[in-house]
Amino acid sequence: MHDVIIIGAGAAGLSAARWCDELGLDTMVLEQAEEVGGQLLSVHNPIENYLGVRAHNGRELRDLFVEQTQTSDFDLWTNVEIESVDLKARRVVLRSGEELQSIVMIIATGLRRRRLGLPGEEEFAGRGIIETAARDRAQVTGKDVCVIGGGDAAAENALLLAEVCPTVTLVHRGRKMRARREFTEQLHTNHCVTVFPESVVRRIIGNDRVEAVEIERGGAIKPFQMAVQGVLIRIGWEPNTDFIRGQLELDDAGYVVVRYQQETSVANVFAVGDVANPLAPTIAGAVGDGATAAKVIATRLQKK
Ligand SMILES: Cc1cc2nc3c(=O)[nH]c(=O)nc-3n(C[C@H](O)[C@H](O)[C@H](O)COP(=O)(O)OP(=O)(O)OC[C@H]3O[C@@H](n4cnc5c(N)ncnc54)[C@H](O)[C@@H]3O)c2cc1C
Repeated sequence: MHDVIIIGAGAAGLSAARWCDELGLDTMVLEQAEEVGGQLLSVHNPIENYLGVRAHNGRELRDLFVEQTQTSDFDLWTNVEIESVDLKARRVVLRSGEELQSIVMIIATGLRRRRLGLPGEEEFAGRGIIETAARDRAQVTGKDVCVIGGGDAAAENALLLAEVCPTVTLVHRGRKMRARREFTEQLHTNHCVTVFPESVVRRIIGNDRVEAVEIERGGAIKPFQMAVQGVLIRIGWEPNTDFIRGQLELDDAGYVVVRYQQETSVANVFAVGDVANPLAPTIAGAVGDGATAAKVIATRLQKK
């Protein structure tokens, strides 16, 4: 029986773990990915707004977090696959068969990129479908690409791809893009970029790799196919709460509803970071939530 099990080792989970350890709590951290850091690993721009530290990118900040937790004594398991969680009993069963239990549980599972659920989307991941323009654009250099989404991230990625691709077609549902004007103005004056508003991609098509997308344009009678060799999807984020759905209060979008000091609707279960913060997800918020939960838990368990 551990004092605390923390699920997720992004900024929020690592902060909670660091604080729990400092406050004398026997702590176990479970992370599904191969390495810790969560979203920080996909931040390729400089981080200037996390007070006290300037980092060239998220990985550099993640490395500082790891360095600072290395003297801590909490158990960290990565590559973990959770089979089931019983929040009321604070019991976790892993796919490997191990069963773990704690007095208190902290959910720190953050967000994942929203998927479209389209035919071809899983099949061509890494074979024409790229994750990020900043990291993966070498894979589509010199090729025609389609970017799906109408927000800042889609616009920014389309502009980056336009530096190395002959054509970039940006497809989005709305009549107007949600991206900030600075981006939309650049998109509309960039001769490589075509924007299809009120349009949706229905299928990603290919044999071994992406060869085309099927697009339905607003007002058009029939969907049509457009030859592309690369696709990038940026349609927002969603919380990683499927594995606990039905056991605690979630909002309509699936975020954990927290009350005072990161407590959830289930006794002795806390939620920290982006998974419980639909309106203002930040590194500072995630780190702060982790610290708050740990201090409250330590007081409750009267360790310090
Ligand atoms: C491109 C980009 C740029 C950003 N720039 C900034 C910025 O400049 N400033 C700023 O403050 N914020 C920025 N952010 C936001 C910031 O990165 C996040 O708010 C913060 O990192 C969230 O941390 P988190 O720990 O709550 O969640 P996450 O980082 O999402 O971590 C959650 C962790 O939980 C793990 N997990 C999920 N489900 C399970 C499960 N079932 N079992 C085990 N483990 C699980 C995940 O693998 C992950 O490691 C940016 C984000 C992105 C994507």
